Amino acid sequence: MEVTNTPQQKTLNDVQTQPVHRWAEMAFVQKTVTGFQSLLKGMRITFRYLIDQKTVVTQQYPENRETLKLAERVRAQLELIHDEKGFHKCTSCHICEEACPNASIHVIDRKTPAVSKTELDHFIWRMDSCTFCNLCVMVCPFSCLKMNSQFESSVFDQRLLVYNLTKYAGPTSVALAKLPDDESRQKAIEPRTAYEGPTSLNHYYLAGIPKDLQPQPQNSAQNSEKSENPT
Ligand code: SF4
Ligand code: SF4
Repeated sequence: MEVTNTPQQKTLNDVQTQPVHRWAEMAFVQKTVTGFQSLLKGMRITFRYLIDQKTVVTQQYPENRETLKLAERVRAQLELIHDEKGFHKCTSCHICEEACPNASIHVIDRKTPAVSKTELDHFIWRMDSCTFCNLCVMVCPFSCLKMNSQFESSVFDQRLLVYNLTKYAGPTSVALAKLPDDESRQKAIEPRTAYEGPTSLNHYYLAGIPKDLQPQPQNSAQNSEKSENPT
């Protein structure tokens, strides 16, 4: 029986490849057009910024450090609010300390003879472990805390991220207001600095901090031993 060359038995040369080339060309053209449209869209924003500077959202930091605008919702550093006289309203109730999910706050109080009440001695905040969740700010019953926008806090030593947030040890602004004069108010308070007091790092000496501002632990022998062998 003679075998005839049926349409199903076409050779490779017979396969029509021209339509495939046409589709590839069309896809290339389509991609070029789409790419050009995207470019125009991007350039439209660029040209709009060139024409109307007020619409620019990108900030030239750090060149514009003086005029830098940050959103109100920025949470950079925890701050114990002090009024214009330098007094705070913290009653050292420890509510913020208990609310903090990762023990970044340590409130240390003391008894004061001035007003016969417990008063704040140190307010320790560990920025290195804080997650900036804002819980402490929300739970404070006296609105003593806020998250400020001071975000430039880079240091070379992790220990410098453990701060004392109160500027003084002493009564609240409310209690101080009941004292008769400024002299008695000054007597009732004791200055504190950012790096004074106990730290969460077992009283190692803090690099770059003057010796008279270094934490003074009760066991000084243990401290000197640790400062010689920092980890
Ligand atoms: S912001 Fe959150 S993690 Fe940071 S100290 Fe406050 S409660 Fe703790
Ligand atoms: S900051 Fe507020 S919540 Fe925290 S100890 Fe002071 S008064 Fe209490």
